[in-house]
Parts: sequence; structure tokens; C-alpha cells
Amino acid sequence: MENAPANCVLCGNKEKELLITVDSWCIQRCVQCGLGVLDPRPSSDELAKLYNEDYCEDRFVEGGLTGTPEYTKRLSLETHRIKFFRSFKRSGKVLDIGCGYGYFLAACREKGYDIHGLDFSDWAAHHARDRIGIPLTIGPLDEVSFPENSFDVITMWHSLEHMSDPREAVSRANSWLKDDGLLVVDVPNYTGTDARNLKEEWNGWDPPYHFYHFTPQALTSFLGKFGFRVIRKKDYHSETIKASLKKYPLINLIARPISKFYSGHSFAVVTRLKKSAEDQDAES
Ligand SMILES: [Zn+2]
Repeated sequence: MENAPANCVLCGNKEKELLITVDSWCIQRCVQCGLGVLDPRPSSDELAKLYNEDYCEDRFVEGGLTGTPEYTKRLSLETHRIKFFRSFKRSGKVLDIGCGYGYFLAACREKGYDIHGLDFSDWAAHHARDRIGIPLTIGPLDEVSFPENSFDVITMWHSLEHMSDPREAVSRANSWLKDDGLLVVDVPNYTGTDARNLKEEWNGWDPPYHFYHFTPQALTSFLGKFGFRVIRKKDYHSETIKASLKKYPLINLIARPISKFYSGHSFAVVTRLKKSAEDQDAES
């Protein structure tokens, strides 16, 4: 076990307060910017054991081999993710950081993107590469390097909150992306309706895997520090509101559209990188 950094990785403030305790894990919140942090947390040696085969089988949705009906169905679950950024980049090279079993990248490949995956877990990488042919790199982010200006799009679907140093992750994304490239980030939102309704039962806390907990404002501000400007954002619909409405006849038919008015489990952004300070000034 180790302690989280004493100063907030977003605003540098030292003062924290207890946000919630989940299964005896403490999650603190920076009193200045609201960023949540697991403290204490597993050390890097302990992490390797945590992201094992059982973790992957429990968390990642299996989808069969290339060309099978299961594969086609599994890829369709990724369509909404591609739609989220596709209008800004219809082609180019996509890096998925935390690619897991690789089905998102497989769906990108079907749309004509060049793809590359990166994952910390040997087991997930083995699946993505050997079963569905995803080209990838295995390793912790701080030990991996790609040439500068290599990618048009970098995605982090539920991976930024797992990073022991999210500043390192976003700074590396800045270096690996071409100027005008896109960084797409999706993280749990601890200020959403589901987290507020479910309290310690909310699965977005997920200790000890989630080291950081973002609010939409904290995420926007965090990415902005590294030159990324939000050009599109979305809240996922609230599962708790949908579930409560589905109990009633008639109302259950409109449960999903109503639940969209409530912020749900996660929050996602498409951001565009402007590497030079002049570009950023011109747009602000
Ligand atoms: Zn802070």
C-alpha cells in the first residue's frame, strides 16, 4: 500500500475531506476543486496482481472470434462510442489506452480506422491480440513510448480513473497525438444521480481499482491544463431513475427517455488538442 500524492493532482491544494468509505477504503475529496482520490491505495507491485485473469473475466464483455455472430453483436455495443467522435475525425490512427479485450478497436477497424491498443493487463492483451487480431502494446503507461505526433485519436474508455498518475497519462496523450488530434475520455461521475442514489453501493467507486474520481468540471479543467479543449460532451442516462420508473405500468415505456434527463453513471468528453499556446489564445 502507498499514500496518494499529498497535493491534489489537479489544483495542487493540500486540504482534503472524507468523501465516502467503501469496504473500508477511504475516498477523499479535494476541498478546492472536488477531485476525489483513493487514499491509501495499492502500490505498483500490488497492482500487477490485481489486474489478473479473474478481473478481466469479471469486467470485460466477451464477444467471440472474428466473423462469428457473437462478434458482430459485440461490436454493435461499441457503435455509440464511435458515433461520439466520428463527425470530427472520419479516418486516421486510433490508440485506445486501456483497450481490454479490444472490441472497441475492432469496431473502429470495421469503420476504416487504423488501430492500436495499449493495456496494462497481459491477460486482456493476449485476448485482444491473439483472438481478434488487435495490434497492441502491453505495459504500464509510464513504461511505454510511441513517437510524437503518431495518432489522430486517443481514447480512454473508463481508464483514466485507474491511473496512478493521470497527469502522466494525459501528458503522454498530448505528445503522441498530432496537433488538432482528439482525446476522448469517459469516466464515472461521482456527482451523478446514480452515485448520489446508490451511495456506497455505487459501482463507480470500485476500490481499489479506481484511484481518482472526477466531476464533469474537474475533468474539463484537468484536460484543459494539457491543451485539450472540450468540443463535445455527454452524460449517460441514469440507470437508477430508469429502474425506478420501470416498476410502473405505462410509465415503463418512457422510462429510458425520462432517465436521460438525469446524469448517470458516467460522463464523456471529446476534446481537441491545440499544441501551440497561440492557437489556444486565438480561440479563447
Ligand atoms: Zn484539487
